[in-house]
Amino acid sequence: MVRPALLRPRSSPPTPSWPAAAAAAAAAAARASANPLPPLSSPSLRPGRRSMASAGSGRGRVRIAVVGDVVTPPYPLPPSPLRSGCLGLGLGMGAGDYGNENVQLVKSISDLQLPKAAILGNHDCWHTYQFSEKKVDRVRLQLESLGEQHVGYKCLDFPTIKLSVVGGRPFSCGGNRIFRPKLLSKWYGVNDMAESAKKIYDAAANAPEEHAVILLAHNGPTGLGSRMDDICGRDWVAGGGDHGDPDLEQAISDLQRETGVSIPLVVFGHMHKSLAYGRGLRKMIAFGANRTIYLNGAVVPRVKHAQSSRKPAISTSEQIGLEGLGGLMVPTSRAFTIIDLFEGAVEKISEVWVTVGDAGTELEQELVLYKQPREHI
Ligand SMILES: [Zn+2]
Repeated sequence: MVRPALLRPRSSPPTPSWPAAAAAAAAAAARASANPLPPLSSPSLRPGRRSMASAGSGRGRVRIAVVGDVVTPPYPLPPSPLRSGCLGLGLGMGAGDYGNENVQLVKSISDLQLPKAAILGNHDCWHTYQFSEKKVDRVRLQLESLGEQHVGYKCLDFPTIKLSVVGGRPFSCGGNRIFRPKLLSKWYGVNDMAESAKKIYDAAANAPEEHAVILLAHNGPTGLGSRMDDICGRDWVAGGGDHGDPDLEQAISDLQRETGVSIPLVVFGHMHKSLAYGRGLRKMIAFGANRTIYLNGAVVPRVKHAQSSRKPAISTSEQIGLEGLGGLMVPTSRAFTIIDLFEGAVEKISEVWVTVGDAGTELEQELVLYKQPREHI
């Protein structure tokens, strides 16, 4: 019998707080592991809902969705495909910037009945510069909502799929300076990049030996290029530049040099796919040493009018509000970055657009970013 996956934060003892429904879903998915995940691009997926719901994760095989950078208006509620389970997900990852301290959205993400890991980004502490002992601010409320699912400087284990998610530095804004240093110092005891790198390193080094480790950060590491369209390249200044996190690069480099930790994937957001001033599109995937794949999931905006729909008479934000109330809904398209893992290795990565409407959900478009063996498309 396969045990349901357990969430076990490194910094605290095992907790029973994971919703029972999520545990049951994970157990059911694990039992279905004999059935390989169907390709998202298969015509048989249309209209999508039933076929995609039959997809599942299991021991050694898992489908992961990355969502983040929903900071630009409109602010969507947790996308329906995550709520309905139609993508056949085994794990959800939130890369940060859910809004400018949008507590409601973070809370609704944390309530999703899906195993998940998340990290807060710079916009999630947009108005809060330091923690106060006297008042409860919105950064604290977001952290409390996520609880053990916030992986900043922590290792979260998913034993059923032999996977651990390790968080990078919370609140990162990229570049050489620590963003919100008083927040970092107060809550994590981190005062500079070296301490931050050590903290990420220690969290990853604690992962069970047989687990693959996915690093989840708000911003990617330095060392992946300095052109404007590189995965962490500065696109808002002439000449570009490397806007990665140096502590994350240091931690990965040290882990790969000094430990046997397997890091098949590093996931992050922050640096939007659409470059500033209409300069084109960013490279969203990069390949590093030790077969590590770097993935930027910051597809912005994540919600747009569905291609098949007529021009709506109401705004997208109004549609989303109606959806939240269970009312009439004009179809919208929602972006997800989908990763298929098998036995700790990345099989496939796609940017997927899913149409969400009253009739249900439907796979609209899949852009394959990577497929094993390596095919860079
Ligand atoms: Zn950001």
